[in-house]
Amino acid sequence: MSKLQPARGTRDIYGDEARRMTAVVETFRRVASTYGFEELSTPIFEFTDVFRRPLGEASDVVSKEMYTFEDRGGEEITLRPEFTAGVCRAFISNGMQQNLPCRLMSNGPAFRYERPQKGRYRQFHQINAELLGPENPEADVEQIAMAWRLLRELGLGDKVILHLNTLGDVESRVAYREALVAYLEAHKDKLSEDSVRRLETNPLRILDSKDDGDKVIVADAPLLSEHLNEASRAFFESVKAGLEAVGVPYEHDERLVRGLDYYTHTAFEFVTTELGAQGTVLAGGRYDGLIEKLGGPAVAGVGWAGGIERLAMLSELDLVDVRPVMIMPMGEAATLKAFALAEDMREAGLTVLADRSGNLKKRLTRASKANAKFAIILGDNELEAGNVMVKELDSGEQWEVPFGGLVASITA
Ligand code: ATP
Ligand code: MG
Repeated sequence: MSKLQPARGTRDIYGDEARRMTAVVETFRRVASTYGFEELSTPIFEFTDVFRRPLGEASDVVSKEMYTFEDRGGEEITLRPEFTAGVCRAFISNGMQQNLPCRLMSNGPAFRYERPQKGRYRQFHQINAELLGPENPEADVEQIAMAWRLLRELGLGDKVILHLNTLGDVESRVAYREALVAYLEAHKDKLSEDSVRRLETNPLRILDSKDDGDKVIVADAPLLSEHLNEASRAFFESVKAGLEAVGVPYEHDERLVRGLDYYTHTAFEFVTTELGAQGTVLAGGRYDGLIEKLGGPAVAGVGWAGGIERLAMLSELDLVDVRPVMIMPMGEAATLKAFALAEDMREAGLTVLADRSGNLKKRLTRASKANAKFAIILGDNELEAGNVMVKELDSGEQWEVPFGGLVASITA
């Protein structure tokens, strides 16, 4: 393989894909700001503990996906595999608990050592929202409603479905874990090797196994919903009632567990059938113990992350094609005047490209290729008269205007 290829699982992003991804981020910022969210930009690398502690040693991300290295100073560093842990670290570092609730939005690259395929990369990009402070289920509802609004604005309302589950509080989860392990132990001989290992480390993850043999066993496993205590049950009922009140359709998916250890109560994923195995476009949940796990105060949180590549691939946002104005000075004196005229037009918000070489015919051909709306021709004769020649490329119509009237004549 040529050395000039990007590293495996990384890509150069440009053209329509870049425009679509930018549109996703801009839509996210606009929607999230209507819910009071403010920008937070955290470093793309942190001390490894920032991720290892909250995500859990047994999670897929920590056990096999992190980009971890020792830097020149001997510090153990990890490229962020996700945003939440870093956002919570920033919350603690900056004493943000003085000012609750915190509504924080972020976007940028994340890094996971994965097997690359369509919609799955080693460097990918996320939009991320965290609401820190509120312990009540209404906060979960608002976060999901915000995600749903974003997805609809991206034209995905008919393409995704919300899968919703509760993981209960710690007490419920401990009770369930016991029942689940007891059941799975009885079928240990038929479980995949991975799942036998998870039995010790992270048994809930077995519910999410892609192995066909595991799936058969999991189908009859006890359900988490049967082990919820009263408080957890009430919390989940409130989330569901809230979603119904805002009009967010959902499916209760009893098998939904999130890959990271830090979730409690609400867990959700917006899934599409259009991207094959990479069907989850946006996912999140509540993580009440995370900030404490990082050594901070007992502050609750609920949030989500969306994969920008996957959202951009699915999204049917119309990309607005900006048609440029092409300015064509003929000769040296005209070139200098063209600088000033181009700036006048940009001041008015127009996109202006200059073409300073070749004969007029060639330049007009290039202008059509660039999908220009107008050609502005400026030769010695025009210069002397203080005029430019404007040619509207669609109609072929052309007219002369004095320098001072140019902007008005093409923006009218
Ligand atoms: P998956 O099940 O697809 O591996 P995940 O549960 O690991 O997803 P999260 O940690 O919830 O993903 O990240 C949130 C979103 O980020 C995902 O829903 C997905 O859209 C996107 N995402 C996660 N990993 C990748 C990746 N390697 N490449 C591209 N997008 C990704
Ligand atoms: Mg993953």
